[in-house]
Amino acid sequence: MSLRKVLEYEFECPMCGSISKCSEYLYNIPIVGEVILTSCKCSECGFKHIDVRLIEVGEPRKVVLKVSELEDLNSLVIRSSTASIAIPELGVEVTPGPASMGYITTVEGILLDVLDKTRFICESAHPKPMDCDHRMELMEKASRGEVPVTLILVDPEGVSAIVNKKVLFEHLKIDQQ
Ligand SMILES: [Zn+2]
Repeated sequence: MSLRKVLEYEFECPMCGSISKCSEYLYNIPIVGEVILTSCKCSECGFKHIDVRLIEVGEPRKVVLKVSELEDLNSLVIRSSTASIAIPELGVEVTPGPASMGYITTVEGILLDVLDKTRFICESAHPKPMDCDHRMELMEKASRGEVPVTLILVDPEGVSAIVNKKVLFEHLKIDQQ
């Protein structure tokens, strides 16, 4: 992946109101093309905003990958700040909040993140929800490629991607978000 800085501009920090800088970087990623990474950091209070999106805007869509082979775990995922993540087999649905950030990770990274969050919820809840052990075991297996799952990015802006030749796109009607 090649990375170059293409733009720098000022932003007003939503937390403290001081003026700081955002930088935009351009990546070229095989199969999906050019991706823009925006990174804003307030030098006064440390507020940070990071987002990532494809340069070429597509239709509102679902990006669907059947994770069925070990190598699928290494597929790159470009998830913009407005995209939701769903993994039906694991009962997972992550919808973005207003302070949500975009990121580039791998399928394995998403599965491990989901496992971490579930572990945190299960360990801080008293009494422990009944299906915790079962769900965590399933997530662990999925993150090792032992259980096939479906990773779905619900992307109303059409700027997210999964870098894998098996990816399918489903048209997203705006009212079904
Ligand atoms: Zn600030």
